[in-house]
Amino acid sequence: MKIAVLRETADAEYRVAATPETIKKLIGLGAEVSVEAGAGVGANISDAAYGDAGARVADRGAILGDADLILGVQGPVAADLPGTKAGAMLAAILSPLADRARIDGYAAANLTALSMEFMPRISRAQSMDVLSSQSNLAGYKSVIDAAEAYGRAFPMMMTAAGTISAARVFVMGVGVAGLQAIATARRLGALVSATDVRSATKEQIESLGAKAIFVADVKGIEGEGSGGYATEMSDEYKAAQAELVSSHIAKQDVVITTALIPGRPAPRLITDAQIASMRPGSVIVDLAVESGGNVEGSRVGETAVVHGVKIIGHKNAAARLAADASALYSRNLFNLINAFWDKDAKTVAFPADDEIVIGIKLTEGGKIVHERLLAAPA
Ligand code: NAD
Repeated sequence: MKIAVLRETADAEYRVAATPETIKKLIGLGAEVSVEAGAGVGANISDAAYGDAGARVADRGAILGDADLILGVQGPVAADLPGTKAGAMLAAILSPLADRARIDGYAAANLTALSMEFMPRISRAQSMDVLSSQSNLAGYKSVIDAAEAYGRAFPMMMTAAGTISAARVFVMGVGVAGLQAIATARRLGALVSATDVRSATKEQIESLGAKAIFVADVKGIEGEGSGGYATEMSDEYKAAQAELVSSHIAKQDVVITTALIPGRPAPRLITDAQIASMRPGSVIVDLAVESGGNVEGSRVGETAVVHGVKIIGHKNAAARLAADASALYSRNLFNLINAFWDKDAKTVAFPADDEIVIGIKLTEGGKIVHERLLAAPA
């Protein structure tokens, strides 16, 4: 099987879909790997390092023509994948719900598109779960970004010149990113509190040494939706949550928001009035900014200053740790390929009835085949 690794072209994308480590492993399976020249620049991987790992390094036109499987981080539009073979596979983070036209383009180009972020959240697929590997790094980086922008220290310090009090950090949304944000803020010595709509997270928050802030006695508190994801909450719940947040947030120095609802805009958790109640110099990091934002006034790719509070809205947070994010992402891809590798044929074979394949396959044979896309209007 011939595998081609793309150089990313999207704005603020510094990751790469294969590293010398995973290329050696793919070659070890019996694959031939080509890498687009310059693919690793953003993650500090040179073309020479790819060559030393056994890959052929060439320009895009030269690597696509005979590729059976194309690996990317973000999926390019089909027009940027000229000369691909009929039925060639493309595995990347394809944002199918946000950009349906691009997926229709893959079908029209007869590409078999595999959407890594649709990986089912089941034990067997944990090592292939790109949302987890990337969110974990984003959660860590959000706290480092906040600490950098915050004009004070995080830990309590008792010095001869007096005592500095610990920063108060509030994490809203305790999925993979939120849990890592709590752990990172704790390691830096902050006093950490956190909230979520899923009551299952209460114990996780407390086990990390943070205080759980939860809306009590309101219908709809059990926000656990399918696959462990959050659902849209009732109006009664939203009102109770807003009241709780208002009283808590005024005492916080740093707020990290990570709340997402699959297939819907991010829930609005912090209003302008709540920002105004915070002390000037406080910092908010909105990790959901690209999904519509949890924070009023947050802007993609910018740091806004509102009522003296810095609201950080970095684009593509995980790509800000490109080397580690690439290492984990490329292992996720390798684990997918390895799990379905046919040793005799030296190729990947995806059975149509496998739960993972059903979860990630969007297009095949010139058609959309994924039930979530078939159910949604084109
Ligand atoms: P996510 O990125 O979809 O959302 C982040 C968090 O925001 C979630 O905890 C969600 O409950 C929370 N949220 C949504 N609306 C909110 C609101 N209005 N107020 C406060 N918080 C709100 O979440 P994720 O990190 O992708 O995790 C989703 C689920 O998947 C979790 O149950 C997690 O344990 C599970 N998971 C399973 C696996 C696996 O089994 N392989 C791997 C990773 C995560």
